[in-house]
Amino acid sequence: MLNKKIKKLLIGTNNKGKLREIRDLLPKNIQTIPTSKFNIKSPKETGKTFEQNALIKSRYFSKKTKLTCLADDSGLEIDILDNKPGIYSARWGGKDVNFDKAINKVYKELSKKDKNWRNKKIKARFVCVLSLSYLNKKIALCKGKVEGSISKKPRGKNGFGYDPIFIPNEKFKTFGEMSPRQKYKIDHRSKAFKKIKKFF
Ligand code: IMP
Repeated sequence: MLNKKIKKLLIGTNNKGKLREIRDLLPKNIQTIPTSKFNIKSPKETGKTFEQNALIKSRYFSKKTKLTCLADDSGLEIDILDNKPGIYSARWGGKDVNFDKAINKVYKELSKKDKNWRNKKIKARFVCVLSLSYLNKKIALCKGKVEGSISKKPRGKNGFGYDPIFIPNEKFKTFGEMSPRQKYKIDHRSKAFKKIKKFF
């Protein structure tokens, strides 16, 4: 395994929800450093896939700080919206990445597509790609997914982003109604993390 001795890791995100969840997943013997320590803006996400964008972020933040960086690109894919918002999930929240705005846009787009969508199961999934880089070098890239559906209205105040409107398959609660521990048992980020942790 590469980089067995990672003791110090930069978490390459300016999203507070992600930072909290990634820190919860990491072993406590790894010292995690947030990007806020360096006051670095996020790079432009010019990739066409979660994989490309995750690598753009981990390489960019690592080069800026000279630290090994773990970055995440993730989003919500909705089948009848041709997998949108997908890699544009954060951008649907506007410049200030407002999650209420993003959720309203999902409901608006669903109503445009099918006025009757609330009476149907709207299939969706969360996708997460985690990437680990040192400077320009890719150490690892791992993906996780969780399948589910969109709730008729937002429910719950936990988590972040689209959590209040996502119901994982075989559950009744949205991610927004689950405790962090319940979410981490099944979610996309934990699945990606299980694969990438062997590189630490
Ligand atoms: P990006 O990876 O920084 O481009 O942004 C990913 C966006 O996807 C977030 O801003 C959220 O809107 C959404 N997202 C990713 N993972 C989750 C999650 O676990 N819960 C809710 N929303 C998420």
